[in-house]
Amino acid sequence: MTSTASRHRSAGAPASPGPTQASSGEPPAGTPARPRGRLDWHQLLRWLVDDGLVSDDDAQRLVRRFGSGASSLHALVRLGGAGLQHDGRALDCEALTEWLARRVQLPYLRIDPLKVDVGRVAEVMSLQYAEMRKVLPVGVAADAVTVATSEPFDTAWVAEIESHSRRRVKLVIANPDDVARYTSEFYNLARSVRNAQKSGETAATASFEQLVELGKTNKQLDANDQGVVQVVDWLWQYAFDQRASDIHLEPRREMGAIRFRIDGVLHTVYQVPLTVMNAMTARIKLLGRMDVVERRRPQDGRIKTKRPDGAECAGSIGAEVEMRLSTLPTAFGEKLVMRVFDPETVVKSVEALGFSSHDGERWAQLIGRSHGIILVTGPTGSGKTTTLYSTLKSLATDAVNVCTVEDPIEMIEPAFNQTQVQAALDMGFAEGLRALMRQDPDIIMVGEIRDLATAEMAIQAALTGHLVFSTLHTNDAAAAITRLADLGVPPYLISATVIGVLAQRLARTLCAACKVRDEDTTRESLDTLVRPWRMSGGVRPYKPVGCLACRQTGYRGRVGLYELLVMGDEARRAVHPAHDIAALRRQAVKDGMRPLRLAGMMKVAEGQTTVDEVLRATPAWSES
Ligand SMILES: [Zn+2]
Repeated sequence: MTSTASRHRSAGAPASPGPTQASSGEPPAGTPARPRGRLDWHQLLRWLVDDGLVSDDDAQRLVRRFGSGASSLHALVRLGGAGLQHDGRALDCEALTEWLARRVQLPYLRIDPLKVDVGRVAEVMSLQYAEMRKVLPVGVAADAVTVATSEPFDTAWVAEIESHSRRRVKLVIANPDDVARYTSEFYNLARSVRNAQKSGETAATASFEQLVELGKTNKQLDANDQGVVQVVDWLWQYAFDQRASDIHLEPRREMGAIRFRIDGVLHTVYQVPLTVMNAMTARIKLLGRMDVVERRRPQDGRIKTKRPDGAECAGSIGAEVEMRLSTLPTAFGEKLVMRVFDPETVVKSVEALGFSSHDGERWAQLIGRSHGIILVTGPTGSGKTTTLYSTLKSLATDAVNVCTVEDPIEMIEPAFNQTQVQAALDMGFAEGLRALMRQDPDIIMVGEIRDLATAEMAIQAALTGHLVFSTLHTNDAAAAITRLADLGVPPYLISATVIGVLAQRLARTLCAACKVRDEDTTRESLDTLVRPWRMSGGVRPYKPVGCLACRQTGYRGRVGLYELLVMGDEARRAVHPAHDIAALRRQAVKDGMRPLRLAGMMKVAEGQTTVDEVLRATPAWSES
């Protein structure tokens, strides 16, 4: 794991700023008459008063309220639940833990399970020992083990572990709730991995397929197999918990790596022995109805599973989650990627897509037309599917026939008639579209326009009175027109059918739980970034901090940034054989188009995202 010192954050609570370097097992002296044994809430309350965090009055009120009754709660949990406040900040259990760490001059640690090598730390002490001492090992280095505790004065065990592990013990202070929760999680996971490894090795020495055969029988799974089942269940629960959009199982030379994509960024979660990864892949393929024995050809599959209870996802506990599976043989074995389709993120209300009111109205007006082609452009992972599904869903009433040709169908939506492209059967987008035209459609969605044949079919559909949606991979809205021309579509057909192009990107949004005002980003600095435009309206930017809710990244979730080109009469005239993209862009701007970068900086001004994020996600504006 990473250095504990680097994870120390400044606490909102003041007290003595003293040194916070990781030190040896015992907290340094300095506080006179250091207590021994477990923390006592009376003692902590006195310290809070001494440090000026709690007034005498509040302390006395609390003493009366708690009375003399004993409580099994940890002192920090008990005080943290008392509703104390300081300077407008709640003194909850986490804040008190940070404060305590400073008070006793030990590093504070918010345990990040993604950064802990669970297999190694579980070897430091047994589960029983950890539970009894209420401590949790969180890191193992060559010369030291890092152990999290909420009891800085209950350290009689330190010598024991130092001699047993032949390493120095570094104490860090962590939230008692986290210590308890992760103790069971880490040890369960470590046991599951060990069991899986055992059964994996047995199978490897005998025959790997035996393990698979065991899994195929619908009878009660035996103990060996249970390990694999547990690891896979843990993996999913963990991925949903962390809001992962993709789960990667990657065989490497020595180990298998498990990675999650969260808000667009990959994180390595865990390393497992290859035997374990093979067993996990086999189990997942089995559940996805794929050919388990075939490991040398790419395969696709789907799994529907329930979001486990307790998964942190507002309002959708126990909801069904669909995953699309795909395998690919690589140099070191079979790589498996699971894409998680959370229906709530794939289909939103049009209002939730994040359009500005200006573009929201223009989009509503555009999709209300009876015929023409509307294109959505942007790189892979820019949210095009969400925009299209959400828009189609808003149009799909009983009175219209909404048909799609997709590759692949990302989510089954009962309100649409969806068709999957099947290359093996010679059913590409163009053929699918041709067949679909005989199905009396009103609104059509073609997954992507990749070739002239598909473009011609889409134009045919638009000319015969249908509303056609599709996507293209282009950098901005105006470039979509160039792309169609490059495919070989005559300009007069483009200007006759394309009624609008929406370019989009996703920017990470600031975590609402921890963001703070950014005084350095001003109207002037934003104006410089959006030249030749200027920011209108209020400018109230925020910057990221990092907290438990956002895995210390400062960001949580993403928002769409849009650039909407509506083809007016003037813009249409700019589409001709000598095609002038600069003239088209200029005209589009006159007609109300705001470029992606400007759309992004508007979100910065609203405090939804940051300048860095927008610069990363959007191309610079250019008229040429
Ligand atoms: Zn946060």
